[in-house]
Amino acid sequence: MIKKLCELCPHRCSADRFDAMIPGFCGALNKPRVFRWGPHFGEEPPITGERGSGCVFFSRCTMKCLYCQNSPWSWNGAGEDKSIEELTEIFRTLVLNDKVENINLVSPTPYLPFIREAHHALKKDGIKIPYVWNSSGYERVEILEEYRELCDWALFDLRYSSDETAIKLSAAPGYVNAARSAVKWAYEKSGIDLIVRILVLPGHHEEAIENLAFLASELSNEIKVSIMSQFTPSYKACETPPLNRSVTEEEYEEVVEAAEDFGFENGWIQGYEASDPKLALLGENMTENHGVVK
Ligand code: SF4
Repeated sequence: MIKKLCELCPHRCSADRFDAMIPGFCGALNKPRVFRWGPHFGEEPPITGERGSGCVFFSRCTMKCLYCQNSPWSWNGAGEDKSIEELTEIFRTLVLNDKVENINLVSPTPYLPFIREAHHALKKDGIKIPYVWNSSGYERVEILEEYRELCDWALFDLRYSSDETAIKLSAAPGYVNAARSAVKWAYEKSGIDLIVRILVLPGHHEEAIENLAFLASELSNEIKVSIMSQFTPSYKACETPPLNRSVTEEEYEEVVEAAEDFGFENGWIQGYEASDPKLALLGENMTENHGVVK
């Protein structure tokens, strides 16, 4: 059942978006809005698999990252409203026609009640498929628990280690506790495979290192991490130093070295050059490369 006032994400803005159509902080309303969907072959190897990951990019987002490379749909809402039947049809096509490995829900949080209905419709037809919950990590544990059935894979970011930065760059108060709690929840929950993405931001690489330190000291250095160099200035980053540049090779190297020093052995390191999506392996446990650029 959809609760009348929305509290799906840590903003808990209580928008009356479902009945009164009053948008909350994220801008989502009473229908799932989809920008793009289709098989995607650039995710981390276990998610891409042989047949690709069935990505569904939802419009709107609970964070407002100044550097967002998806701003046409995350900030500005490009996309189409879908009925539950249409969303189910998208999922069905991905599974039956494209034969994808999983359904990859990209920024799903504002639309969880609708996604669950589509999932139930698929289930009723006897269609089973794993779900990837692919998000910034800015989540509420209670909501993760409530929608557990949509999380076979948790593909969560740990973006900031400072709430001040999270507010300044992404308008996401309480990000550090929210994202770390989400990662901890996924790590401790049996039956969920977890990958933590560490996107290194220019001028903020120390926050990436602090998040790796958190993982290693509070959880485990056996967690799979995906260290990403792909930041390129886009949207409002162009006017916001130091986000108006790429990550330097020195900044990136420091993060990679820290991951090695903390003993991470499972995961991937994106090549430094933006044009080179090749990944080196952090440890011996993985045997494929990928390029995560979306
Ligand atoms: S998902 Fe959107 S509407 Fe709901 S609490 Fe978060 S920001 Fe507000």
